[in-house]
Amino acid sequence: MSDDPRPEISPEELAERKMRFLFALRSKGVTDARVLNAMEKIDRGLFVRGIFSERAYEDMPLPIACGQTISQPSVVGLMTQALQVGPRDTVLEVGTGSGYQAAVLSLLVRRVYTVDRHRRLVREAEELFRALNMANIVTLASDGSRGLPEQAPFDRILVTAAAEDPPGSLLSQLKIGGIMVLPVGQSDTVQSLIRVKRLETGFDYEELRPVRFVPLVEGMASD
Ligand code: SAH
Repeated sequence: MSDDPRPEISPEELAERKMRFLFALRSKGVTDARVLNAMEKIDRGLFVRGIFSERAYEDMPLPIACGQTISQPSVVGLMTQALQVGPRDTVLEVGTGSGYQAAVLSLLVRRVYTVDRHRRLVREAEELFRALNMANIVTLASDGSRGLPEQAPFDRILVTAAAEDPPGSLLSQLKIGGIMVLPVGQSDTVQSLIRVKRLETGFDYEELRPVRFVPLVEGMASD
């Protein structure tokens, strides 16, 4: 008997699920061809383990290790789109989680630095990136609320956990002309995805849509 809880999925059924996956992205407003193309290439099924892997191609967030979640694919698509990345960009992602968002970004930019406060998540994501030959992702166990001063400034910053306000250290690590996309909000239920552009003279804030993310927690986790 195999330990794998997944029922066998035929190649036809898998292809059908992946088609529905892309359709869901488009119908939720992910229209950027480069983003759709990257999300078609990265197999979300590799980033979800255990019993929930069965639902990897559905447009829903799913539980991962350490009590965290892999974001809903359409939200990954909309955030990536809102970040307006280019092939020469260096991006900081705060909140590696499963590694899925970093993998999508890695196909679109020059280099991705991704950090998480849970060492176990960082280790597992790093193993996947290595297996997939994603050599332009640098994975670090670190408190992302402080940013990554050694590698700053960044062209783009993406935060995938919600803070009450945009952390000052992240704002200061953004290049002039740079863009940061992040969820902000005080409670578990009321959060907004916002886009911050750094101008010569200050910051421009734009509210994009309501979202729901796990909280950005200061300091390293104990596991
Ligand atoms: N981008 C992920 C989903 C992230 S879930 C994916 O594609 O799967 C949010 C993640 O943010 C969690 O893994 C959590 O551990 C991490 N996180 C929360 N606060 C943090 C902090 N201060 N520094 C780094 N990571 C943090």
